[in-house]
Amino acid sequence: EKADVECEVCVLGSGPGGYTAAFRAADLGKTVVLIERYPVIGGVCLNVGCIPSKALLHVSEVLNETRSMSDHGVTFAEPKIDLDKLRGFKEKTIKKLTGGLEALAKQRKVQIVRGYGRFVDPHHVKVVDDEGNETLVRFEHSVIAAGSQPVKLPFIPHDDPRVMDSTDALELEEVPGKMLVIGGGIIGLEMAQVYDSLGAEISIVELADTIIPGADKDLTRPLLKILKKRYKDIFLGAKVTNVEAKKDGLHVTFEGKKTPETAVFDRILVAVGRAPNGKKIDAEKAGVSVDERGFIAVDERQRTNVEHIHAIGDVVGQPMLAHKAVHEGKVAAEVICGLPSAFTPMGIPSVAYTDPEVAWAGKTEEELKAEGVEYEKGAFPWAASGRSLSLGRDEGLTKALFCKETHRLLGAGIVGPNAGELVAEAMLAIEMGADMADIGLTIHPHPTLSETLGFAAEMAEGTITDLL
Ligand code: FAD
Repeated sequence: EKADVECEVCVLGSGPGGYTAAFRAADLGKTVVLIERYPVIGGVCLNVGCIPSKALLHVSEVLNETRSMSDHGVTFAEPKIDLDKLRGFKEKTIKKLTGGLEALAKQRKVQIVRGYGRFVDPHHVKVVDDEGNETLVRFEHSVIAAGSQPVKLPFIPHDDPRVMDSTDALELEEVPGKMLVIGGGIIGLEMAQVYDSLGAEISIVELADTIIPGADKDLTRPLLKILKKRYKDIFLGAKVTNVEAKKDGLHVTFEGKKTPETAVFDRILVAVGRAPNGKKIDAEKAGVSVDERGFIAVDERQRTNVEHIHAIGDVVGQPMLAHKAVHEGKVAAEVICGLPSAFTPMGIPSVAYTDPEVAWAGKTEEELKAEGVEYEKGAFPWAASGRSLSLGRDEGLTKALFCKETHRLLGAGIVGPNAGELVAEAMLAIEMGADMADIGLTIHPHPTLSETLGFAAEMAEGTITDLL
C-alpha cells in the first residue's frame, strides 16, 4: 500500500507534548505531520483541562473573595450568575489559544491530519476520520503523544448524564443542588471549588486519609481546614461502592467510618485519576512495548524500545502535567534532530489551583525521609507575613527543605494564595543548586508573599531576625 503522506516526523496527538514536539522538529528543519482525532488541536490541556479549568477557577476565586469582603467591612450583593456567559468566557479563552496554535502550525508548515491514528507497522500510521476516510502516513521518526483520559469505575452508571467526568464538569451544564465529588485529588478539588462558589452543595469522598494524596500534609492541612468549613462533607479514608441512577437522583452507597450508608445526589463528578491511552494505538504493530496499564516506557531521551519511535507526556507516566509534556516534547524533537538533549529535570512542580493554592517543587519531606536523606527545614507561617495579613489571609505556609550537608535546596512546598506562582522561584533555585544562604541573601521585595521563601531559608539557617 502506498502512503498518502510522507514525513520525517509523525506526531500522534496534539496536546501540549505533541504540538511542542511538532513545532520544535519543524523549527529544526524537519517535515512534520501532526495527527489529531478531534477537530481542534491543543489536547486535553487546552480544550478540557488546564485552561478551561483555570478560567472557571478565576471566576470562582473572585466570587469567594468578594463574599469574604464582608469580614473587612465591604458587603456586595449576591452575584447574579449567567451560566451561558460564563461558559462563553471559558470558550473564548480556549479559542484564543487553540486558534493561535493553528496559526503557529501553519507558519511552520506542520501538516495536521485529522482522524484517529493507529500504527500499522514501524513506519506507518493509518488515520481514519469520522467519515471513514483513511490517510496512510509514512514516517522516519514518530513521537507518541496520545495523552490520557479519565478513569471510569465499573459500579458507576457513567452513561447517565448526571454522572460527570472532568470534561463534562467543565461543560457547566447546570449548577446542581447536591453534588458528590469522588476523588479528593487536584482535579476533583478544583472542580469542587468551581461548583461550590457557583452555589452547589459539595460533598467529597476520598479513599486516602488525606486530600491530594502525595502532597505534603503540612500543606494540605490548611486547605482541608478551610474546605471543611466551605463544604457539606469531606469523607476521608472512605469509598463509594455503588451508584444507582433513579428518577429522584443518584443513590450512592458508601463504605467508611464517618460516611452515611447511602445518600442521594443530583450530580456526581468522578475524578479518580487518569489512564494513559497507550493501549489504543496498536503500538505493538510498530514493536513498541506498552505496559498493562497503558504506559509506554522511555529513556531520558524519550526513546521507546524502538529506536526511531519516541513517546512523551501523560502516556509515558506520572506526573501527568502539561509542563512535563512540553519539556519532554522538546527533548524528543531535538533528539530526533540529532541534538544531545535529555529530560533530566531536578524536579517537576505541581500545583493545585484551589483556594488557597497548594504547590510544591522538588522533594517532599516524606520523600526525603523515605530516601534517608538528612535535611534541614525552614517553615515560615504566613500569619507572620505582613503581605499575607494585609490580604486578609493568614493560613499560608512556606516550607523549604535543604540538604544538611551542602545546604542546597532539595524541595519546597507552599500553601496560600498564589502558591503556584511563588513555587517557580523555588524550582529555579533547585535547578540552579542554590543553597540556603543564596536564597536568604536574595533581597525579595517587601511586602510580598515571595519574601516567605527567603524567610524560610533564613529560618533553616538560623539567621532570621524579624518575622514581620
Ligand atoms: P493530551 O493533552 O492528553 O493530548 C493528547 C491528544 O492526543 C488529544 O488531543 C487526543 O485527542 C489525541 N489522541 C490520542 N490518541 C489519538 C489517536 N489514536 N489518534 C489521534 N489523536 C489521538 N496539567 C497541568 O500541568 N496544569 C493544570 O492546571 C492541569 N489542569 C488539568 C485539569 C483537568 C480538568 C485535566 C483533565 C487535566 C489537567 N492537567 C493539568 C493535565 C494536563 O491536561 C495533561 O497533563 C496534558 O494535557 C498532557 O499532555 P499530552 O500532550 O501528554 O496529552
